[in-house]
Amino acid sequence: MSKFSEHNFKNEKALVRVDFNVPLDENYNITDDTRMRAAIPTIKKILDDGGSVILMSHFGRPKGGPEEKFSLKHLLPHLKELLPGVTVLFSNDCIGPEAEQKAKDLKPGEVLLLENLRFHKEEEKGNEEFAKKLASLGDVYVNDAFGTAHRAHASTAVMAQFFLEDKRMFGLLMNAEVSNAEKVLNSSEKPFTAILGGAKVSDKIEIIENLLKKANNIIIGGGMAYTFLKAQGKEIGNSLCEEDKLDLANDILSKAKQQNVQFLLPVDSVVADKFSEDADTKIVNNDQIEKGWMGLDIGPESIKIFTKTIMESKTILWNGPMGVFEMKKFQAGTKAIAEAIAKATENGAYSLVGGGDSVAAINEFNLADKVSYVSTGGGALLEYFEGKELPGIKAINS
Ligand code: AMP
Repeated sequence: MSKFSEHNFKNEKALVRVDFNVPLDENYNITDDTRMRAAIPTIKKILDDGGSVILMSHFGRPKGGPEEKFSLKHLLPHLKELLPGVTVLFSNDCIGPEAEQKAKDLKPGEVLLLENLRFHKEEEKGNEEFAKKLASLGDVYVNDAFGTAHRAHASTAVMAQFFLEDKRMFGLLMNAEVSNAEKVLNSSEKPFTAILGGAKVSDKIEIIENLLKKANNIIIGGGMAYTFLKAQGKEIGNSLCEEDKLDLANDILSKAKQQNVQFLLPVDSVVADKFSEDADTKIVNNDQIEKGWMGLDIGPESIKIFTKTIMESKTILWNGPMGVFEMKKFQAGTKAIAEAIAKATENGAYSLVGGGDSVAAINEFNLADKVSYVSTGGGALLEYFEGKELPGIKAINS
């Protein structure tokens, strides 16, 4: 049981940091309320215990002062719908007299949503005075915003110091994120296979280096594979390549060998004569990509080899697509890998999918409920797997 589940919030005012950074259309309608729904179980548990909830969130990227389009008041009607029968109030500022009065008057069973934290530039600066003012509004601090756990902002990390150890904790969502990531990184059942894709090697260097210490197999797909192939002396035509990362790619390949990590690169590709849905395409071996052609998806032989390793794995981490999956013509590789992960999960493997594009892909193929866990954290999850200590986690744990 987590600290949060064991805590009784009766008569306490819980300051809950949520991630309500949802997309809105031009009429302020919410187009995807996933993040709001994800916070509801945490809110409900506190209310059910007889406590009250003060919600804090950022919203968009205001320039450090109030901006109508970034006001959290646009979310108020939907928040009321998600909490039927609950009194939900709003404060036009997250600190100051109105917030203080409304927090003071808040009764058990009620919810108060504070205005966008980023209307004060002190939030992102991690200002201690500002954090202290926020902290003074409640009795307990609950961080349920994994998506911002890699930021040392006032509400995500700095304010934790103003609460005693038993009065600061992760909420249910954050707890699930942290324990699933922890399970993969530090107590994974072997064989552990990490599948990494996406556009650039440069974005994934640190994660690869850290996973070399943890994984048995590393599968590389997507645009980043071609820098490795070029480093091995292969002809990659017009495929994506980071020339300044060739030495680093070789270095990673030799580290993998030294550490006995099976490093699987695609052996064939779907190549195209242009970066377009109506391109001419063909399947070629990865040492035969001609000039004028670019690899935009892994080929059928690669799918076969990758699938075999995935099916033999007991723990699977997937971040990044195998090709340009946004275009139907170059989707087969990503889809096949998603299906293999779903199948391996059905056979008893534990699988975690994270990072914006792989989550988008798994949703598009309707396989999100066929994997063990889909993470909500993009940057935060990547930094976790890079082996970094996230400020939002450290602040609660230390
Ligand atoms: P990332 O944000 O680094 O995870 O990269 C995701 C993006 O990589 C997606 O938009 C894909 O379309 C793109 N991508 C994947 N494979 C390739 C490829 N072979 N060539 C160019 N772009 C790719």
